[in-house]
Order: sequence, then structure tokens, then C-alpha cells
Amino acid sequence: MIPDPTKLTIRDAHAQLKEGALTSAELVKACLDRIAERNPQVNAYLEVFSDAMDQAAAADAAIAAARKAGGDFSPLLGIPCAIKDNILIEGRTASAASKMLEGYRAAYDAVAIAKLKAAGAVFLGRTNMDEFAMGGSTENSAFGPTRNPHDLERVAGGSSGGSAAAVAMDGALFALGSDTGGSIRQPASFCGVVGLKPTYGAVSRYGVIAMGSSLDQIGPIARTVSDAETVFEAIRGDAGAAEGMRGDGTAFPDGAYRPARVGGAKPVIGVPRHFLGGDGVDPAVLAAFDAALDSFRAKGYEVKDVALPNVSYALPVYYVLMPAEVSSNMARFDGMRFGLHKDGADGIGDYFESRRAGLGREVIRRILLGTYVLSTGYHDAYYNRAGAVRRMIAADFAAAFETVDLIATPTAPSPAFKVGEKASDPVAMYLEDIFTVTANLTGMPALSVPCGDAPADPSRGRPVPLPVGIQLAARHGDERALFEAGKDLRGEVQ
Ligand code: GLN
Repeated sequence: MIPDPTKLTIRDAHAQLKEGALTSAELVKACLDRIAERNPQVNAYLEVFSDAMDQAAAADAAIAAARKAGGDFSPLLGIPCAIKDNILIEGRTASAASKMLEGYRAAYDAVAIAKLKAAGAVFLGRTNMDEFAMGGSTENSAFGPTRNPHDLERVAGGSSGGSAAAVAMDGALFALGSDTGGSIRQPASFCGVVGLKPTYGAVSRYGVIAMGSSLDQIGPIARTVSDAETVFEAIRGDAGAAEGMRGDGTAFPDGAYRPARVGGAKPVIGVPRHFLGGDGVDPAVLAAFDAALDSFRAKGYEVKDVALPNVSYALPVYYVLMPAEVSSNMARFDGMRFGLHKDGADGIGDYFESRRAGLGREVIRRILLGTYVLSTGYHDAYYNRAGAVRRMIAADFAAAFETVDLIATPTAPSPAFKVGEKASDPVAMYLEDIFTVTANLTGMPALSVPCGDAPADPSRGRPVPLPVGIQLAARHGDERALFEAGKDLRGEVQ
């Protein structure tokens, strides 16, 4: 057995499983040991599944059968993974890190989970997150924050902070997260791993606890771009003919988009320089970003400026539309149908008491905001207007994609911040999403790839270097351009 299998990529682990140099049981055991060692400080996992070793044994049996038959097998067979606590796995708890769903058990598998099961992945456990995916630091979890494995004083990012930290602390080879406004990409950037928000509709939303239904996507977090691609290929697509149901009416079959490139051998990269100015972006982040662009140029990529005239409205538009969708999706948590129930004086009293006891402050804030922007007197001024500006932003990106194939920005304006630093200032927290919400508003795919470090700077309270991510966005359906460029940047084999 190799010294530390928890550090393997999916690709290398698969090669070793194939050669018989490693078993899934050894790999899973090594991850469980790592989790036992690291999770008490990091709090990436809310639960480690007690049957992980049984799943590994089943995978090893399937591997043995495939090897005996001389056949190939799925690249995820026997590979241990972590699942965000808002993605349903039949028979297991899915709490969305909320008191409201603390005792809720999923009655069915999400489509993405059914696909991972079919591929033979081993589920290690469910990961911490901001309650109902609302937040950017995993501090809004009802079960305590997740800490950044690179510096325990700092957040792991959010809302999929547990999933990113699980991979970064070598406690899983990959994880699933969900991304409504950046919740896969920003924690990936903070934890120094790769995160993909697929094209809206590329992965079925059936079985993810809804936050903003026109924005949500499930996607992979992994150590390499190639691993993220492998997981995306496994989970993409609708429920499939076998299940005979669609589940998510907005999911589309593979190949629905046929994006045409403007670049020749390499995709052309556009940079909205006008959007990166201001004093909101940490100079160390900009330096790492510019170095990544230089490295693209050195590898033969054309990099040019693009204009996105309405992009500065993306954040306010998101923070009008998202709460509107949140307020409607959260209406189902009424104390009767799912999870927590508290008795009040009467039926409506039950409703108020259950929601008061079950929901955290940020969730309540968004329900209030959303209810306000949808109210009779205001929906024209806020909700409808935000919808109109959303279409203008989408048109800006469509126009930019006439001249470039990829659009690059930093993933987040800062490296991981300190636990507690922004917790009492919602607007400061919302500003973290400035570069990520555009992909959710337009539906385009976007990938965060590590692109260096913000160097240690003790004078600014940064005792260790912190990871920085570059975000690449592409045309609808062109995840391939993201993977190609991401692998080039990381020096991975294509
Ligand atoms: N940080 C963003 C928010 O708070 C994104 C959340 C998400 O993608 N789930 O809404």
C-alpha cells in the first residue's frame, strides 16, 4: 500500500484499484482515520456514516469481479466521497444544517446521488454548511462553524464549507456541494481545491433541498480539475430512462447545448478589468489572479479585455431575486410536513413556534426580505425590476461570448477571512459573492481553480499563506472549455 492514500487523486486511486495495489477498504479506512484525527477541529463532517466500511467491501467485491472478467470499471467505483447535508441520500439524515430538519430522514435519493451509487462511490458522511445553504462562511450552521484546514482561525467559506474542508483536510477524495450564488466555488477557493458550478440544468436538482430554484446547481469539489470533470461526467444528466421520471423539469439531456468556440487551438480568455478595480479586492488576490493570466499567456492563450456594462448590478439583483425564491421555498417548513414541530396556541401558533425554534437568524432575514420584495406594493419596484436587470446581465455575457470563450475573474475578493470577522455584518458577507453570483443569474457554468497563495503577512493578521482561486466562466454547456483551461493552468494532463 502506498504511504498515504488519502492524498491520492481520483485518477491515481482508480489506477491503483485497477492494478490491485490498493483496495477500497484501505482507502476508506485511511480517510476515516484522517477524519477522526482532523474533524474535531475542522468540523467538516456533521456525521460519518457507520456503514462506510461495508460500502467499501461491496466496492471491493465489484472491483474483484471486474478484474476477473478482465474488464474496466467506473472511475468512481470504491472512491470515498462526502455529501453536503442538503442533498438527499435515501434513509439517511439530511438536515441542511438546520434545527428544523435535525431529525429528518430522506425518503429517496437525489438524482446525483443515484448516479454516484450506480458508479459505485462510497459515501463517507454528510458535510456541514450554512443553514439551508444561506451564507458564505459556514458560520450559519446550527451545528457550529467549519474551520479552514489551512488556518483554523479562519472560515472554510460557504455555504459548502464542510465539503471543501473535507477534501482539503484529506478526509475524502471528492465531495458534492450546491451552488446558488457561489457556494461551491468560494469555499473551494478558500480551501485550495477545485469547485465546479455546472450549467443550470446540467445536473438534476431533484433531491437537493431547494434554496433559489432558478439559481441552484449541484456540483463537484475535488483536488484536481480532472477529478472534478470525472465527477461531473458521473452526475450530469437527467434521471435517465431507467427511472422513468424526470423529477427536475429544468434539467436537460446531455448535448442540449452545442457551444461554438471563437478560439482556435485554445479558448480565448476575456477579463472584465473594469469590474476588478475598486478597493474591495485584496491586492494579494489580484496579484495571484494576474500571475495566473500571465501563465495562461505563456501557454499560448490569448487574453483580452471584455466589457460587461451591467455586471455591477449583479450582486443587488441576486440579493433581491434569491430571497424572493427563498421565501417561497421555505414556506414548506411549517411545523407540520417536515422536521421540527412545536405546539403553539392554535394552528397558526404551531407554525410561528416551529419556525421560531427551527430557523436561524440569516434564514429568517432572507424570508423577511423575500416576502417584502414580493409584496403587492413592491414587487414591481424590486422583484420585477431585478428580473429585468438579470436579463440585461445575461445579454452582456452573451455579447462578451461573441468575442471570447472564457471570462476570468478572481473567485472571491479576499482569501479566507477570520471566524467571526463578518458574522455580524450581512452586507460585508454578501460582498464576498460579487464575482460568483453572475454564473447563477445567467445559468453559465463556472469553475474555481487554485491559482497560488496570498502570502503570509503577519502585519495583516495572516500568519500562514492562504489559497486563492481564479474563476473561469464559459458559455452554457461548455464545461469542456473550463476543464481544458483549468488543466492547462494546473499543468494537469488533458
Ligand atoms: N453566499 C451566497 C449566499 O449567501 C451563496 C449561497 C449559495 O450559493 N448557496 O446567498
